Amino acid sequence: MATAITIDPRLGADASSFVSGKHAMLIDGNLVAAKSGKTFPVYNPADGTEICQVPEADAADVDIAVRAARHAFDGGAWPALTPSQRGRLLWKVADLLEQHTEEFAQLEALDNGKPVSVAGVADVPLAVDLFRYMAGWATKTLGSTIPISAGNDFLSYTVREPVGVVAQIIPWNFPLLMAAWKLGPALATGCTVVMKLAEQTPLSGLRLAQLFVEAGFPPGVVNILAGFGEPCGAPLAAHDLVDKVAFTGSTEVGKLIARAATGNLKKVTLELGGKSPAIIFPDADMDTAIAGAASAIFFNQGQCCCAGSRLFAHESVFDQVVEGVSHIGSKIKIGPGLDPTTELGPLVSEEQFDRVTSFIKSGHEQGAKVGTGGKRHSDRGYFVQPTLLHNVRPGMKVVDEEIFGPVVVAQSFKTDADLQRLAAQANDTVYGLAASVWTRDISVAHKMARMIKAGTVWVNCHNVFDAALPFGGYKQSGWGREMGAEVLNNYTEVKAVTVKL
Ligand code: NAP
Ligand code: MG
Repeated sequence: MATAITIDPRLGADASSFVSGKHAMLIDGNLVAAKSGKTFPVYNPADGTEICQVPEADAADVDIAVRAARHAFDGGAWPALTPSQRGRLLWKVADLLEQHTEEFAQLEALDNGKPVSVAGVADVPLAVDLFRYMAGWATKTLGSTIPISAGNDFLSYTVREPVGVVAQIIPWNFPLLMAAWKLGPALATGCTVVMKLAEQTPLSGLRLAQLFVEAGFPPGVVNILAGFGEPCGAPLAAHDLVDKVAFTGSTEVGKLIARAATGNLKKVTLELGGKSPAIIFPDADMDTAIAGAASAIFFNQGQCCCAGSRLFAHESVFDQVVEGVSHIGSKIKIGPGLDPTTELGPLVSEEQFDRVTSFIKSGHEQGAKVGTGGKRHSDRGYFVQPTLLHNVRPGMKVVDEEIFGPVVVAQSFKTDADLQRLAAQANDTVYGLAASVWTRDISVAHKMARMIKAGTVWVNCHNVFDAALPFGGYKQSGWGREMGAEVLNNYTEVKAVTVKL
């Protein structure tokens, strides 16, 4: 039940009116409470206080939402729309979102803890752009005509059809942007969706649900639920009327999703963890490389699946890199996300705070040295100092496992003649999401890009995203790709039609 809650005075009128209003999920075109009437608290990670209560969906709500999505896919208004009409609806959502940029940036800052200044120039505009980019694909999911050798009196062609009802389960690190990455391609291709928001950060997704209603999407096409992993996410991933599940989150839960999907062999795509290397060669522009390596790990409080969390620097520049990244880390302004001058906010939750600080502790115990940070910041809220650890080696937990916080481990490498050995070091992880290479030598850059086993390789940059670029993982970083033209393959079935003329 709602307790006395104070609204943060830094919220603008729109965000504050949303936060203080009654929260609802979107099911079958209606903004509704959970069937059970249950709600759960949403917390502000900057001080641990309760922001508000939101509906808590369970298997009963999942079932209603899935049936609504099934109905909307199998008949009714949605399949009757032309691709151009679908595209225009998506474009409309993008316009509405853009009009509310400040409000969404504030909701993200309040709920997730990320700096409002970052959310306003990254999370929200990237989500807007994703919807616009995918709106364009609605009219371009093309098949092909294929000459076959059975005879010249045959005509064969392929068509791409939407895969059907899609379950989408998203994490808390980029709540709005992850919703956009998933909803955009599903709707562009003509699928219907039941999305479960992360329990830690449901606010922007519930506000986005209102924009889908305002944009005029037919009932049942988009359903957005708030709830917990086991009681809500698990029945969604296992539901027999769902044709595909798309998940972003931990590798551990990703494996559960893959298992849950076996009942009806629904299609599965997974975007999972990472332990991405940032590799600095001695010929790199050092100022750019050091600033880039710092931002690769400290951006979004290090809560990025593609964070540059393993820093490799050539031995001749290792001390310079360690000092440089540590210096930047020590100067970062830490504070609540809603403070416009904040550069690094709190971690999303007490659980993440405990997890990240226990990693740092294990680093200390296993002999790591601290270049900067290593402690909590403030005795209120879930702040962790930007942290660089060196004197580390494979076999240590901080080197092998994904920390998902502002903690980078720095290691040196010896020879630049033996790129293969260096690539093997960079690839010495179960993950394969991303990497960055910092050098002015184009031959080294491209050789490394070729040898690194990861879905994204950045050269002289890190964390550059675009709706047009595919993103996803090798190895245990996932199955399939998000964004770009690639993602459309994950939301469509291909049908080959052969006609005897
Ligand atoms: P998580 O448990 O994997 O959560 C991701 C999503 O899956 C959430 O919506 C979660 O629900 C849901 N979920 C949990 N258990 C489920 C189940 N059995 N069936 C269906 N859905 C389920 O991630 P987390 O616990 O928030 O974070 C733990 C670690 O995961 C992080 O420290 C980080 O290493 C990694 N992570 C990676 C990413 C990424 O972008 N690759 C993002 C977030 C976290 P609820 O949260 O609502 O319970
Ligand atoms: Mg929160």
